[in-house]
Amino acid sequence: MKSWTSRPVPELPGSTPQLRLFDTALGRVVVVERQPEQSMYVCGITPYDATHMGHAASYVAFDLLNRVWRDAGVRVSYVQNVTDIDDPLLERATATGVDWRELAQSQIELFQSDMDALNVLAPNHYIGAVEAIPDIVPAIERLIADGVAYRVHGSGDEPDGDVYYDVEMAGKRSDATDAWTLGDVSGLGETEMLALFAERGGDPARPGKRHALDPLLWRVARDGEPSWPGATLGDGRPGWHIECTVIAQKYLPAPFTVQGGGSDLVFPHHEMGAGHAYSLSGVPLARHYSHAGMVGLDGEKMSKSKGNLVLVSKLRAAGEEPAAIRLAILAHHYRSDWSWTDDGFAAAKERLALWRQAIDNAPAGSAAVLVAAMREELANDLNAPGAIAAVDRWAQEALGSDAEKSPQDTALVTDAIDALLGVEL
Ligand code: ZN
Repeated sequence: MKSWTSRPVPELPGSTPQLRLFDTALGRVVVVERQPEQSMYVCGITPYDATHMGHAASYVAFDLLNRVWRDAGVRVSYVQNVTDIDDPLLERATATGVDWRELAQSQIELFQSDMDALNVLAPNHYIGAVEAIPDIVPAIERLIADGVAYRVHGSGDEPDGDVYYDVEMAGKRSDATDAWTLGDVSGLGETEMLALFAERGGDPARPGKRHALDPLLWRVARDGEPSWPGATLGDGRPGWHIECTVIAQKYLPAPFTVQGGGSDLVFPHHEMGAGHAYSLSGVPLARHYSHAGMVGLDGEKMSKSKGNLVLVSKLRAAGEEPAAIRLAILAHHYRSDWSWTDDGFAAAKERLALWRQAIDNAPAGSAAVLVAAMREELANDLNAPGAIAAVDRWAQEALGSDAEKSPQDTALVTDAIDALLGVEL
């Protein structure tokens, strides 16, 4: 699938500190080892309700990581999927009387135009679930052949043949030290897992499953649902975790550097993906797991059912500047849960205006110090609020300074704010 187009990123002089990043699976900040090429997979949207502020914050968070790596002169291989077939998409299409393909297409276009507006660098590969089905089917066949996946008999309205991943058997098969067992990524106990599994699209009570937490790999065709050829699996469509796993394994090295997404993806999505990948290749999927916090509205969880989704496209349509939206997001550390508020947005707009006022006043010699400070903050687990505070201090000094103005420093600060924070002045 075609991705959006990245805007050019200015190159900055000087050296960069070593990146430290919080790893969810290890539960601590780790040093990300330097490599000539880093690789990242960030889970994409299911195309409905795009692009609410939670999506935007998540993609902006991993855009920071992308920018920090590029600033260090590293090539970045970045893959993102789009779950263009799944239950929630079909449910929304049915509820609104829109063809699911049209809903998906329109929401993907909206998402990409929002990402472009927010100056989020595009992935190298943007892959839809539907286009990945020819790769997913043989992977599931292999899991069945290896005894870590099984078909469930039909019961009631359910037909024969849905395929599930056997979490217990998969854990037993992995005997190497870096192998996967259930809970390795999330660190959760079974009670918490069961609650989250039910809440986040799993079907713990499905009759015929070996373990309540076994996730769906292949859903065979039902009347009125779209389906694709599945070879020995029969016609059907893939589960969500195997979709991401197969796409990541096809387009990225194994293991790749960082698996990213919102914190609601830790379990079951990234947990199960890690298992699938290990079962398929004997190698971990990712070296590090990184997760962005959740965004609410005025202290409440944001959801369609509450009618409180803040959409990037609506703000843009109301004439709001995307750079200000991005700056409002970056004022919060990516791992924190936070709320979108009018006050927070107003503060971001004021900040942007202040930076623009100060930029032509750059005192000679001030830019290199600022760039070093911004890099230090971002290397410290992508501390964007710290980098922003450094620019704030610089702007206040520039505005109050009688020192000689330096066009070179103006240019460097402009480039640094663009290259590192993705904010164009
Ligand atoms: Zn995913």
